[in-house]
Amino acid sequence: MNIELNFDELKTNGIKVNYYFICKRKLWLFDRGIQLEGSSEKVSLGKLLHDTAYSRDTKKEVLIDNLISIDIISGGSVREVKYSRKMEEADRWQLYYYLFFLEQLGIRKKGVINYPRQRKREFIELTDAIRSRLIEILKEIKKVLSLPEPPPAKKLPYCTKCAYYTFCFSD
Ligand code: SF4
Repeated sequence: MNIELNFDELKTNGIKVNYYFICKRKLWLFDRGIQLEGSSEKVSLGKLLHDTAYSRDTKKEVLIDNLISIDIISGGSVREVKYSRKMEEADRWQLYYYLFFLEQLGIRKKGVINYPRQRKREFIELTDAIRSRLIEILKEIKKVLSLPEPPPAKKLPYCTKCAYYTFCFSD
């Protein structure tokens, strides 16, 4: 695929690609350094699962450009470990983005998302349609982050589980 792309201008954190799908306001708040996620029990649990569920696998953790942190597991796939399948779409696009990021560096990989609590795995790889959509998403993320104020809070089904809930909805 021949993409006209200045990736350096568009690249961002993997977590921001994830938040783009969850909530644009959350994306904006996170970008401005309002980072309350550490207080979320689910996030801590997710991190714990990540560290323990596959402790016997051979893996290499790689931090690239201080933007994406990925696990390369034996066999060469990039792996994400997720606590639940509720945010499947966001999780999938985050991993697509990691694969795309690596591809810009000349490294082609496939991805696998592990849901240890559900004992499920999902295998993914890039296609031309996904590459094109990712470029649109990265441009849209830039637009959201350039807004002078956060997008308005809209009640979403998962707001009560969000670390920003009080911030968004207390009077
Ligand atoms: S509480 Fe809801 S509106 Fe506020 S940042 Fe979280 S998901 Fe978005």
